[in-house]
Amino acid sequence: MVVLGIESTAHTASVGIVDDAARILALAGDMYRPPAGGIHPREAANHHVDWFPGLVERALADAKVSPREVEAVAFAQGPGLGPCLRTGATVARTLSLLWRRPLVPVNHCVAHIEIARVLSGLDDPVLLYASGGNTQVIAYGSGRYRVLGETIDVGIGNFLDKLWLSLGGTFPGGPALERAALEGVELLPLPYSVHGMDVAFSGMLTSVLAHRQRGASVPDMAYSVEATAYSMLTEVTERALAHRRKGSVVLGGGVACNERLRRMVREMAEGRGATMFAPPKSLCVDNGAMIAWTGLRAFRSGLAIPVERSQVQPRQRTDLVTTPWRDA
Ligand code: AMP
Ligand code: MG
Repeated sequence: MVVLGIESTAHTASVGIVDDAARILALAGDMYRPPAGGIHPREAANHHVDWFPGLVERALADAKVSPREVEAVAFAQGPGLGPCLRTGATVARTLSLLWRRPLVPVNHCVAHIEIARVLSGLDDPVLLYASGGNTQVIAYGSGRYRVLGETIDVGIGNFLDKLWLSLGGTFPGGPALERAALEGVELLPLPYSVHGMDVAFSGMLTSVLAHRQRGASVPDMAYSVEATAYSMLTEVTERALAHRRKGSVVLGGGVACNERLRRMVREMAEGRGATMFAPPKSLCVDNGAMIAWTGLRAFRSGLAIPVERSQVQPRQRTDLVTTPWRDA
């Protein structure tokens, strides 16, 4: 069985094709990079309109499959930016109608955990999902993926991007801060905002910019932000492992490309005898392969929908979607 997946929740337009042995036959994408400032949803959506036709063609060519061999078309239904989601959904509906193939909705956060599960072979991990707009600790329990903890203000990636823009840089800020942090030596005091299982970052932004006013160097700021913010994420992830009695943790989201975060979560996991797995970076960031793979699982569980009921859900919650393939 071959399924094509469309990802367009935010800045990335991506098409993935997978088969039922979880082989990724093709992955073609492009990320919208605003010339200045943050992401404007409408402009990102325009980028996706320009890119999707070529990406679909390229993915089919790379996978060496014809549309006839594609058995279902999956798309990210939410959560995400409305205009971006609608663009991807329109592409998916078009292919579904054109090729007469079932249309399968996928929750973007569930897709991050499903791709990590199949790549790692870990059956029941905790997911630390650290991306631009989302920061959540997710695990399966009682028939649903449950959000055990999350940011109560901005996503960690948006926070890093905002900081880097405030320092005169361009999007994306996370990778640039990672490079700068390597040169940092002094740990500046920053608010460590863990509230039970939840985290917050906006106070840290205010505080680190105040350090800037007092002459702190960019490498020290980057190092201190990484050390503090990633400690917060590691702490809530550890608490999820402990309380849910899970033996493994997987990473997802663009910020999970960060080597310091990977190292910290690995050390925490190993310290308590748990396994840690981080997907390759191309599958940590938003990608169509995870949508295709989760769509394949969902399709096999009978979760196809008619076009008339395929509205996007920008605020779709992880714990509101059913995952029958996990319950079986
Ligand atoms: P996503 O929303 O999952 O596509 O991820 C995009 C976010 O990941 C942006 O906020 C980037 O700044 C961030 N990001 C990407 N690479 C890194 C990195 N190496 N370290 C920290 N953040 C990163
Ligand atoms: Mg994502």
